[in-house]
Amino acid sequence: MSWREDEYLMISGIQHFLFCRRQWTLIHIEQQWAENRLTAEGEVIHKNAHRDDFVEKRRGLLVTRGLRVSSAELGMTGQCDVVEFQQSEDGAILHGHRGRWQVRPVEYKRGKDKDDHSDMLQLCCEAMCLESMLACRISAGDLFYHEIRRRREILFSEELRKEVSAIAEEMHEYFRRGKTPKAKPSKKCQSCSLRETCLPKLGRMPSVSSYLNRMMEETLS
Ligand code: SF4
Repeated sequence: MSWREDEYLMISGIQHFLFCRRQWTLIHIEQQWAENRLTAEGEVIHKNAHRDDFVEKRRGLLVTRGLRVSSAELGMTGQCDVVEFQQSEDGAILHGHRGRWQVRPVEYKRGKDKDDHSDMLQLCCEAMCLESMLACRISAGDLFYHEIRRRREILFSEELRKEVSAIAEEMHEYFRRGKTPKAKPSKKCQSCSLRETCLPKLGRMPSVSSYLNRMMEETLS
């Protein structure tokens, strides 16, 4: 399958999609983006990572920031925080640079490791896009977490790649249907940037205990 450019979906949407299908639909189909502290912090980190859109070279290392990537096979597009190119015996051929280069994407994240593996999937998706653009194989990349200020190496296994392809396919299926799934309130709604839009009546909803008390009163009266 080869997607047209106007059908591409955002790689950054993978984390929204995994967090809550409804959140992804509201953001990426209905475009109801609502900023909260969590998203605002994420924005600042990304702006810093993308601040210098240049290439620097030191001892066989090239670093690019904010590189736009896409894959027609996945139908996905996005921007890599950082991509490092290490001179090597094999790897990608880069226009204007001699030799071959090992490619390594790096993503900057707020906080520390998440419980789910959406960050890994996003990074792997970027790598798969880079592979199709540069005709090379990328074996690993890094996630840099600001809170712990540490890099975590992610290996792009066949399993992870299959998962990326399956998620991209599912996202396209949701996009094609264009329907917003119903809200299923859960614990994660507390940290959701779209809570006010998605669940406007949440603040006025009675708690379960007050609901049960009222039912008891009604039954006894
Ligand atoms: S408030 Fe809850 S149900 Fe609504 S989009 Fe956010 S996580 Fe999903």
